[in-house]
Amino acid sequence: MSHVDEVALAERLTSVRQKIADALTSNGRPGDDATLIVVTKFHAADLVRALVDCGVRDVGENKHQEAAAKQAECAELDVRWHFIGQLQSNKAAAVRKYADAVHSVDRPSLVTALERAGENAPETGALECFLQINLTEDPSRGGVAWADIPTMAEMMLEARTLTFAGVMAVAPLDGDPREAFEQVARASELVRSIAPEARAISAGMSHDFEAAIAAGATHLRIGTQITGKRTLPG
Ligand SMILES: *Cc1c(COP(=O)(O)O)cnc(C)c1O
Repeated sequence: MSHVDEVALAERLTSVRQKIADALTSNGRPGDDATLIVVTKFHAADLVRALVDCGVRDVGENKHQEAAAKQAECAELDVRWHFIGQLQSNKAAAVRKYADAVHSVDRPSLVTALERAGENAPETGALECFLQINLTEDPSRGGVAWADIPTMAEMMLEARTLTFAGVMAVAPLDGDPREAFEQVARASELVRSIAPEARAISAGMSHDFEAAIAAGATHLRIGTQITGKRTLPG
């Protein structure tokens, strides 16, 4: 039995979709110019099912164990799984088994581990990967420092079992998200000078997606404004 309030969920989803379309058109972009990834962390598999019933095609998860279990419960659904959390290299092969995209690539060892996992399982096809940029001075936040962008971009471009999609970032909690997203746009330019096809920009969460759209975001990772409060313990 599902514990999801599907009417309320559909209303929140419709409202966010409308705000996304409005922000895109007011920035001179087509209303469907960005991919909405609904972040389903802390929520059970029945929420993913309800979202798919509402036409959602992309979901995001940030912890391997939770994501793997949920994906297994939802294996019959036509939905793309985006891994958006910090990822240890020793979990790369396991994540590659179910993920269609990894947004949090931020170390050479992780590129190598994802690449090797792809060589060992060619049936999974190319894995879409985003280079995560750290917009803070705090290395524990995940993402590469500005100075490491070129070497990482070259490495991701050369990895044959990965498709280098573009950049990803989380705006710092303090500070103006518009400035943070301007920095992401500059990181994207730098990446495209090395990998012209890596045009995607994964940026924007529940409270700042309009600012991210204004700075060119193509992939929005939105959780609580659609899903409501967490339902899983922990
Ligand atoms: C949780 C999470 C999101 C979604 O955050 P909300 O504020 O719930 O929209 C986006 N990106 C990452 C990396 C996350 O961990």
